[in-house]
Amino acid sequence: MDNRDAEITEKILGLKHKRKAVILAHNYQRGEVQDIADYVGDSLGLSQSAARTEAEVIVFCGVRFMAETASILCPDKTVLLPDPHAGCPMANMITAKELIKKKEELSGATVVCYINSSAEVKAESHICCTSANAVKVIESLDAKEILFVPDQYLGHYISTQTDKKMTLWPGFCPTHLKIRAEDISIRKLEYPQAKVLVHPECIPEVIALADEVLSTGGMCRFARQTEAKEIIVGTEMGLIHRLSKENPGKEFIPASERAACPNMKLITLEKILWSLEDLAPQVAVPEGTRLRAKAAVDKMLEIG
Ligand code: SF4
Repeated sequence: MDNRDAEITEKILGLKHKRKAVILAHNYQRGEVQDIADYVGDSLGLSQSAARTEAEVIVFCGVRFMAETASILCPDKTVLLPDPHAGCPMANMITAKELIKKKEELSGATVVCYINSSAEVKAESHICCTSANAVKVIESLDAKEILFVPDQYLGHYISTQTDKKMTLWPGFCPTHLKIRAEDISIRKLEYPQAKVLVHPECIPEVIALADEVLSTGGMCRFARQTEAKEIIVGTEMGLIHRLSKENPGKEFIPASERAACPNMKLITLEKILWSLEDLAPQVAVPEGTRLRAKAAVDKMLEIG
């Protein structure tokens, strides 16, 4: 950490205490942001942390739908998203209006939304899921047909793990799409002993080459427990920081260095400081939408 980062970090920690704030950071955040967070995790872990925090202010270092989820669960807390432009292109691939139209077309289908979706889309869904619990959530449903939104690749992966009939919305994560099957093949030639972990947002051709298909939280657990010393990581590059920090004797090789999410990287130490100084930009979900979205999120949290 250079002197400037150290100075900003000291100011952030002082203000965090004064504001009674907690800093939550997604596994894809910049290393220096992860390092000052109280909790670093995947979408499921962050939702659970938001639900149980006693802090008055939540500084959400991630993208908008994550801050919205915190606000859905904790309406009495101030939720800050240090850069208001940090959105998720995949979440933006479906609107509530489009979902309502599709529900009319598929009358009777049960809607499962990936947590990477807007509060309005969650409000139109029966239940929410994350990549960590998606198969468990789908298996728990007594439904003839499931409409899964918005990630077609996560949806496709789940459909290979269950007998449920699923219709998939054609959304995708542009960052995970940058990981190609050739990237994995090249890495396997370079590191023949390595285990290959990939995220279920990847395309099926990449998933076919993996030893394990895991959420980022699942990758962290796997990395701690495995005897393997070299691990090829098929997800957004930010996770390498956490994996390397937690497992000093092991080497983590990015499947593709192109897999960096520009939206996740919008959050910086400076913006966190400004956000705590100004208590802005805040994210809040209108109460009617919030209550309906919360029902979908709560159902997921009950399943775990
Ligand atoms: S990595 Fe993909 S899914 Fe995650 S925020 Fe970026 S674009 Fe959205």
